[in-house]
Formats: sequence, C-alpha cells, structure tokens
Amino acid sequence: MTGQKIQQIYELLFERFGPQHWWPGETKDEIIVGAILTQNTNWQNVEKAIGNLKKASVMSLEKLYAIPQEQLAELIRPAGYYNIKAKRLKNFLKWLFENHNGSLAEIEPIHTENLREELLQINGIGRETADSILLYAFDRLVFVVDAYTYRIATRHQLIEPECDYEQLKSLFEDNLESNVKLFNEYHALLVRTGKEFCKPKARCADCPLEKLPHTIETDTI
Ligand code: SF4
Repeated sequence: MTGQKIQQIYELLFERFGPQHWWPGETKDEIIVGAILTQNTNWQNVEKAIGNLKKASVMSLEKLYAIPQEQLAELIRPAGYYNIKAKRLKNFLKWLFENHNGSLAEIEPIHTENLREELLQINGIGRETADSILLYAFDRLVFVVDAYTYRIATRHQLIEPECDYEQLKSLFEDNLESNVKLFNEYHALLVRTGKEFCKPKARCADCPLEKLPHTIETDTI
C-alpha cells in the first residue's frame, strides 16, 4: 500500500513537472561543492559562489584544496555562512586528499554504506549533504531526504511525524525500484513540489498531489 502511494506520487509529479535535470552542475567536482554550499541558502546564492570560483579559475577539487581557506571563504561569500562553509569544504577536501589521493576514481570501488560512513565522519557533512554527494556525484543508490520530503510524506500519511531521517530514507529506498535515475528524479520532483506548493502554508489547490488523501497540520516545519 505504501509502495503504491510512493509510486503514485512519483507518477503524478513527473506527469506534471517532467524531468528536472538534476543536479545542476557541470562536473562531479561542481556537484560536490554545490551540495556543501547549498546548506541553509537558496540555489541562486550557490550559483553566484560557484560563478566566483570559476572566474578565479579554481573550480576543481584539486585547486580548491590548494588555495588558502581565507581565500576560499571570500570567493564563496555569496553562499552565506562562508567561513563555516569554507571550513566544511576544506574538511571534505582534506578527507579526499589525505585518504584517497584526491581521486574520485579511487572512491569508486568503496561500498556505498562504507563510503556513506566515511562522509558522515567529516566534520560539517550531515546526512542530507552526504546523501546528495552519494546520489548526484557518485551515482549511488541512496535516497536523499530533506525538509520537503519530510513535509510531503507527513502530510500524505506515509510516515508518522516523529519518523527520523534514516526511517524516511529507508521507506523510499525499500519501496522503489532500485534505480539511481529514479532516485535522482524523485528527490528533484519533491523539492520542486515543496518549493511551489507544499510550503509551510500548503497550496493544495493546483498541486499535482491534490487528489491524493492528505492532511495539513497547523504547525510549520
Ligand atoms: S501542497 Fe497539499 S496536495 Fe500538495 S503535496 Fe502538500 S499537502 Fe499534498
């Protein structure tokens, strides 16, 4: 039953919105940087920060590892919390270069669960960021959960409000076909729905999921 609902939600969203072409990034390096910079800000600000990195000719993991943290912070200033994010980026790069020779190819053979554990050990890399990197940069079969996923899943009674990140992640992973492209598209469609319709104050009229059973709580997320 839950599996059917999850499938139906996907079909309705895809029918309305079509492919979302995620993740917006030209290279794996850019996807990783974007996933770290997008925490607590909107994508336009991330784009400006990445634009600065490109203009300064440092938009590669190797070059970002080489430049001083202060310079990096200045370049990513438009993304907000730039000192914290520069530190997080440097933490990721330190892990990559000290443990894996700075090579994404060297990471390929690592089992997804082990790689996820490694990423979660990096200071400042939380579950959503780690899973975004795993799915969108490394093509791993990992479902990304965010506040939009939680809100839509709660309102459509897929989960109880006290459900945690790992439970919600497993719910999608266990009830969907094991297909990286599907996981990629589904998350992107949920984000679009959350931004346009399923806001804290829901706009159910005209939402692609309007005809499915749902309840709106009074509090906000
Ligand atoms: S806006 Fe309403 S119909 Fe749309 S996903 Fe949210 S609760 Fe469902």
